[in-house]
Amino acid sequence: SDIAPDPLLDGLNPPQREAVLTTEGPVLMLAGAGTGKTAALTARLAHLVRSRLAWPSEILCVTFTNKAAREMRERVGHLIGPAVEGMPWLGTFHSIAAKMLRRHAELVGLQQNYTIIDTDDQLRLLKQLIQAEGLDDKRWPPRQLASCIDRWKNRGLNPGDLDAAENESYANGKGQHFYRLYQDRLKALNACDFGDLLLHILNILRTHREVLEIYRQRFKYIMVDEYQDTNQVQYLWLRLLAQERKNICVVGDDDQSIYSWRGAEVANILKFEKDFPGAKVIKLEQNYRSTPEILAAASGLIDTNSQRLGKTLWTERHAGDKVKVIGVWDGPEEARRVGEEIERLEREGASLNTMAILVRAQFQTREFEDRFIAIGLNYKIIGGFRFYERAEVRDALAYLRIITQPADDLAFERIYNTPKRGLGDKALEKLHRHARARGVPLSFAAIEIVDTDELPARARNTLLALVRDFARWRDLAKTATPAELIRTILEESGYTAMLQAERSAEAAGRLENLSELARAMEEYDTLGDFLEHVSLVMDNDAADDAEKVTIMTIHAAKGLEFDQVFLVGWEEGVFPSQRAMDEGGLASLEEERRLAYVAITRARRRCTILHAANRRIYGQWTSSIPSRFIGDIPPAHVDAETTLTGGASLWKAQWSEREDPFAHLARSEPARTMTRGPGWQRAAARDFDPVPKRLTEATRSAASFAAKPRSDVSVG
Ligand code: ATP
Ligand code: MG
Repeated sequence: SDIAPDPLLDGLNPPQREAVLTTEGPVLMLAGAGTGKTAALTARLAHLVRSRLAWPSEILCVTFTNKAAREMRERVGHLIGPAVEGMPWLGTFHSIAAKMLRRHAELVGLQQNYTIIDTDDQLRLLKQLIQAEGLDDKRWPPRQLASCIDRWKNRGLNPGDLDAAENESYANGKGQHFYRLYQDRLKALNACDFGDLLLHILNILRTHREVLEIYRQRFKYIMVDEYQDTNQVQYLWLRLLAQERKNICVVGDDDQSIYSWRGAEVANILKFEKDFPGAKVIKLEQNYRSTPEILAAASGLIDTNSQRLGKTLWTERHAGDKVKVIGVWDGPEEARRVGEEIERLEREGASLNTMAILVRAQFQTREFEDRFIAIGLNYKIIGGFRFYERAEVRDALAYLRIITQPADDLAFERIYNTPKRGLGDKALEKLHRHARARGVPLSFAAIEIVDTDELPARARNTLLALVRDFARWRDLAKTATPAELIRTILEESGYTAMLQAERSAEAAGRLENLSELARAMEEYDTLGDFLEHVSLVMDNDAADDAEKVTIMTIHAAKGLEFDQVFLVGWEEGVFPSQRAMDEGGLASLEEERRLAYVAITRARRRCTILHAANRRIYGQWTSSIPSRFIGDIPPAHVDAETTLTGGASLWKAQWSEREDPFAHLARSEPARTMTRGPGWQRAAARDFDPVPKRLTEATRSAASFAAKPRSDVSVG
């Protein structure tokens, strides 16, 4: 091009440069993982400012997470200096919407100082409404209503917009009624929830032409990263804002759409060219992130999906190790093995900061945390709490603490009304006063106060029942194992029932965490030993500047990269998740496979996949079948290893019948090599076979080797 040399553009390849320099008109960058989409978007932002096409305040740039926004701000800062300070519109959809809403709150009946309520407040509010309407909140849990309302808001639907089917989705046709009540109540409280941030803005832009004009004038350029995961309401407001100037540049990868469960619609990226006719479509095909082996493995895996555009990817990176698949006996061995690998890499000079363990579900982190504590390996959990810090785990621990240590007032306060027993703040206040007057801990005060008339009869009876529960569990603690004890407590206290009644994905995750807690306790003979272990774990906060291994979910790892990636628990029922398997449809399994693709493509140098032959669930050994996704990886790019007899040959058998379209990619020296792809324009229209044939065979043999007795194991 005849543009003067620009350090900002120097490192970019021709299509990336084109994306940066095509500032006017709609641009779609639709490309595979690690091809430098985010890098190009960042350079584009810097270029717009540097070449004075727009002031920093005239660019709307949307990232998927706050962390991504911070990183982009930092990188742009390197390129354009302090001008980056004046970029108020770089952030997530929610943060940008909140900023807009402050300015126009009155248009939706709020004051400028409105509050944004969190999930807890939301649930409390919904519960009040449900009860006030005389509905049974056990039968129609607030959480169910909350998730309906979230879904409607994600789709840009106001109460008046619900169709009959949506209206039916709560309390036999009361959906709309409650949605309306809730919105009115929020307004009265001068509050809104997260979903409202986007919905209110959409409503304002739709009904107040003058406001829409302000923003259409202001935003000379609009850019969106991870466009494949935008939901309907986000899509609608982008389209409104961009429709006049049409200077909108979106980047994404249909193969990395992993948030449909939160209302994201991959269709948004696929129909961009229709929404913005004449859009320039830029394909990036060179992957800069991963070795040829990792790229080939990921490409082979995602090629199994039928619902994709298909794309060509190549790399100039030097050949590296094959993707390693390690079969181990059980969960503890998996954690041990990952710990060993990490220590080995560390000895070879690798930094812990460059390593990550990616899990499918939060509960999986526990085994690694426990192991890393035991061997003194620093780790951090991103996008979630460390296992023993999660609310439900802390609740369970509080019950245990009260049993071993009746004077633990903090534990008592935490759980005396969790699950809800109708013991309110008033009762607690009386208890406190009594405890202070008598100089005893709360749990003793509770025993004494039930013999007085300080509390109303109902509270007294409830408290008496609780005091008796404590006594009974304390007795049980003398004979039962710690794991039996916690299971009994969670059942008898109503804690499990409380979560089950919620019928939400989040509650299911909490229940998983609690069974994981019980599983952890199986390794301890006494409750004291276990609680001591926990306090050590809790105390293990390494200095902030210390190097640490990252543990996070695959969802949270989107857009990130690490030299060494460990993918754990690749077993049917864990990954793909049991939920996705139960739903069984093509859509949910293909989304799980895209998640697997995101997971593998986070790796720069080395990718290690682990699966265990056994998981212990409720004290029972359950044999696990290796994930179908392992079988989706072309065998030529896998180095299989197992501590189980027969394991290695299992994979060979599974793979032998499979052609490998990606063989040439890893065969190579650094020379440019192409991977085959179904072709850019042609959306793949192959038949979908939900359970690949090659798996059924493997599944059977896997099940048989997994079920063998322990003597069959040759470790090492
Ligand atoms: P994902 O789909 O995972 O979000 P992406 O397409 O956004 O990936 P980036 O994260 O932008 O990819 O880039 C991947 C890696 O490649 C980064 O380490 C980035 O610095 C590097 N990279 C990007 N473009 C180039 C280039 N032209 N030359 C060298 N390295 C590059
Ligand atoms: Mg990216």
